[in-house]
Amino acid sequence: MSKGHLLMVGAGLSGAVIGRHLAEAGYRITVVDARDHVGGNCHTLRDPETGVLVHVYGPHIFHTDDEEVWDYVNRYETFLPYKNRVKATTGGAVYSLPVNLHTINQFFGKTMRPDEAHAFITEEQADTTIEDPQTFEEQAMRFVGKDLYEAFFKGYTTKQWGCHPSELPASILKRLPVRFNYDDNYFFHRFQGMPETGYTAMVERILDHPGIEVKLETTFTRDEAGDYDHVFYSGPLDGWFDYEIGRLGYRTLDFERFTYDGDYQGCAVMNYGEEEVPFTRITEHKHFSPWESHEGSVCYREFSRAAEPGDIPYYPIRQVKEKAMLSDYVKLAEGTQGVSFVGRLGTYRYLDMDVTIREALDTARGYLERAEKGAPVPAFFTAPL
Ligand code: FAD
Ligand code: UDP
Repeated sequence: MSKGHLLMVGAGLSGAVIGRHLAEAGYRITVVDARDHVGGNCHTLRDPETGVLVHVYGPHIFHTDDEEVWDYVNRYETFLPYKNRVKATTGGAVYSLPVNLHTINQFFGKTMRPDEAHAFITEEQADTTIEDPQTFEEQAMRFVGKDLYEAFFKGYTTKQWGCHPSELPASILKRLPVRFNYDDNYFFHRFQGMPETGYTAMVERILDHPGIEVKLETTFTRDEAGDYDHVFYSGPLDGWFDYEIGRLGYRTLDFERFTYDGDYQGCAVMNYGEEEVPFTRITEHKHFSPWESHEGSVCYREFSRAAEPGDIPYYPIRQVKEKAMLSDYVKLAEGTQGVSFVGRLGTYRYLDMDVTIREALDTARGYLERAEKGAPVPAFFTAPL
């Protein structure tokens, strides 16, 4: 006898992890996704022509400090060692990212040691008149100075976000380190890796439980919510309310796919810092699975633009205007019974995969605790604001 029938809208990491946890606790779970595959935006698909494992909605690298999450994903998939080493083309040369001692020495034509480079950047490059940087531009000028900012960040960021870096919050740049050593690992996290057979295979295994039914190519509409004891909705928050207050702003991506016979660029990710180059980066997918070997290659040129109705919403914009609208949607959501808004789209936040899984586990546990006590289930287990 099941404890109740729950619906997961979305077969991405949020829907799969919450669904699995609650299926194991004795609930009957239905998972629906409008797409023809599970995995959400992490979806990976083997290209029949080249054999390359393609990250269909853009590259996904797994990195975390959360040991429980790392153990969780390793239960369903073998993760092989992978370090994200990004390169950047700008001003007719190729550099190492994130900005590190190699980048600095190469860019300025010097042979500085760490302390010399630190002194050079802080004393000769950084704009120390900026005491409390508020915008992306101020943050960059304060920490790396005009030359590096203009070469690596200004053009790329203008293309990525469709506005001048002086209109963006400093927090976006704070995600990227500047290093005064030769460490070119893009991430700091203790655990990093790539799924051997892909994220989709991993999500299929998470969903493989007798209590879980998966329906693909099935679009959920709000009036179906009453058929279930509770709905976990990982679709867009504004979409649940038929955009009645307006559309939350997103950036979308256009991927221009091309194949190549051989090794196109010699690395997985090549960023293009200049605004004149219309794309932000080129990703070469076989390099995301370095243990495999393929003659042919599949690459994506990535173009960023404002999402229109019908586009895939990728990056929440979360500027002042969007936050005001978000706060109105949050109020509407909090007055709605029978649904919890989860994941990247449901809470309108940029969430990495590890954070998505952490929140999904906490949400499922939180639901169980409340269900046992007969306590009300909140619209949000993690506040979007
Ligand atoms: P999603 O993956 O978006 O899944 C939501 C699902 O819900 C979708 O499949 C959608 O079709 C479905 N859906 C929505 N509405 C409906 C409806 N009404 N009816 C039926 N189905 C519906 N994270 C990292 O850790 N490392 C990375 O390198 C990384 N790279 C990224 C690159 C890009 C370009 C993007 C956009 C994200 C990246 N991420 C990365 C983040 C990662 O994609 C997310 O953490 C993860 O996908 C969130 O999972 P989710 O289940 O919340 O949402
Ligand atoms: N960024 C940049 N140049 C680069 C890489 C990143 O200016 O070569 C900026 C850009 O604004 C981006 C932000 O730094 O949104 C954060 O970088 P990250 O690699 O985390 O980008 P995301 O995961 O958001 O695509």
